[in-house]
Amino acid sequence: MDHNVFKDLVPSYIENLTSEETNRLMEKHMEQCAECREYFKEMQGDLLIGHTKEQKNEKRNIDYLKKVRSKNRKKIFVITGSLLALFLVLAIGYHFLFVHMWIADDSNVETSIQQQDNIVTLTFQSKKDNRYLLAIEQQSSQNYTDLIIIYENWNILADKKWNIHSELAAAQQGGTDITYTFLNENTLLLDNGEEKKLTEDDKIKIQYKDHSEEILLKDLYHAEKQH
Ligand SMILES: [Zn+2]
Repeated sequence: MDHNVFKDLVPSYIENLTSEETNRLMEKHMEQCAECREYFKEMQGDLLIGHTKEQKNEKRNIDYLKKVRSKNRKKIFVITGSLLALFLVLAIGYHFLFVHMWIADDSNVETSIQQQDNIVTLTFQSKKDNRYLLAIEQQSSQNYTDLIIIYENWNILADKKWNIHSELAAAQQGGTDITYTFLNENTLLLDNGEEKKLTEDDKIKIQYKDHSEEILLKDLYHAEKQH
């Protein structure tokens, strides 16, 4: 075999790409030719070093990718955590500003009674600009006691479109009212259309934080004139 042909074939031989016939011829040539034997050893060595270098580079690339991935994972955790924390803060803030209510202190509430024909209106007005009031009515059907609980809340936004509850929209300007329709001095027209003959036991109980006030329904009619 020719030296130059041998040298040309060495890389393929090392990579096991040559045929068995060629391998046999090359091995036979190496036995006889010291120069080509040396050349083969050198090439083999170079290729091995090259392979290990490649493997090292690959490993380095893989390590780098792993690092990047774990960094990304950490970033995702941090971002998700931050978003959750932010959401929690917003939800709690929203709750305290717009949802949370408390029973009003009567010193913050100005109550007035107005009558127009047979309709008597109880108005509860907040004395503080930054609060609004909400009157929640609970009627017990047995002996007619109309329990009105006065709630207070922060009046942050004057704009109605921001108010989520329709009651809150109605409770603008810091005040709230409840109306009673009388048929006459001694008869109340209930929400369900029934007529209610008033007795000495029928009353309105207005609940504030520390105490409650009672008004006899009989006294409500013409109450304005008495004031
Ligand atoms: Zn040779």
